Amino acid sequence: MIAYYNNAFLEKKDIRISPDDRGFLFADGLYEVIRSYQGHLLRAKDHITRLNYGATHLKLSKTDFFEFEEIAYELLKQNNLTSTPATVYIQVTRGPAKRTHAFPDPVTDLTLYATAAAFDAASALKKQEQGISVITVPDTRWARCDMKTTGLTANILANQTAVENKASEAVFIRDGVMLEGTHSNFMAVFDDVLVTSPLTNYILGGITRKIVLELCKKENIKVEERPVFEKDILSASEMMIVGTTVEITPIVKMNHAVIRDGKPGPVVRTLQDAFKGFLAHEKRIYNR
Ligand code: PLP
Repeated sequence: MIAYYNNAFLEKKDIRISPDDRGFLFADGLYEVIRSYQGHLLRAKDHITRLNYGATHLKLSKTDFFEFEEIAYELLKQNNLTSTPATVYIQVTRGPAKRTHAFPDPVTDLTLYATAAAFDAASALKKQEQGISVITVPDTRWARCDMKTTGLTANILANQTAVENKASEAVFIRDGVMLEGTHSNFMAVFDDVLVTSPLTNYILGGITRKIVLELCKKENIKVEERPVFEKDILSASEMMIVGTTVEITPIVKMNHAVIRDGKPGPVVRTLQDAFKGFLAHEKRIYNR
C-alpha cells in the first residue's frame, strides 16, 4: 500500500514516524476522512476547508492544506482505488519536538500523512436499508468538538460501549441535548420537520450534514437547526445519523427500545434517494 508522508509517496510499511511526534505524545493534530465514489472524492474542498479551520484554531504553522486534494487523488490512483468505493484518510500533526506542553520553539515541521483504503460499501448499504440500533451516552468530550482533532478518547470509549450493547453508534448527550454521534451527526424528525443541532463548539460541522440540509431544501423538507432535547426524543417520528462513511443511516432502535414500527421512515427514504441522485449528479460533473 502506498501512503503519503511529508511530501513523498512511500510504501506504508516503510514509513517511520518519530516517537517524539506531538501527534503520538499529545494527540496534537487533526484528521479528515473523505469518501471516494469510484474515483470521485466527495466534497474534498469542504473537508480540506474544515482541516484548514482546525489548523487555524490549533495555531499550526501552516493553515492551508488544499494540496491534499491532489495528493488524495494520487493515492487513489497509486493504490488502484479509482473504480471502487474507497476512503482517504488525512492527518496533520504539529510534528516531532522535545516534549513540552507549549508549542515547540523554534517551530518544527508539521507531520503530514495520508492513506487511501477500500471501503466496504455493501455493509454500509445494508445498515442504510435496515436501519441501526444506537445507544445514548453522556458527552464526556471537551468543549471544542468543532475541530476534528485526533484526540478521540471519549469517542472511542462511547463507540466501544455501543459495540458492547450490540449497537452501531452512540449519541452524545450534554445537558439534556442530543448532540451527535461518535463519528456522525444526529438528526430527528418532529411533525415533518427535520431537526438537528445548530453548529456550535459542541458538534463537528459535518460535510454530510451540510449536504443533507441542501437536499432538504431541494426536497421541500422543513429544517430547524435547534437543540434536540432528550426529553422530547420519544415524540420524534424518525431519527438518523449522517456522516462520510454512514451517509444517511436510519435509527430504528435507541437504548434497546424499538422506535415506532422499527422501520426506516419516509423522510429518511426521501433523503437517501435524493442523496443517490446527488451523487450521480456530482460524478457526472466530475467526469465532464
Ligand atoms: N461528528 C463527528 C464527531 C464525527 O467524527 C464525524 C465524522 O467523522 C461527523 C460528525 C460527520 O462528519 P462528516 O459528515 O464530515 O463525515
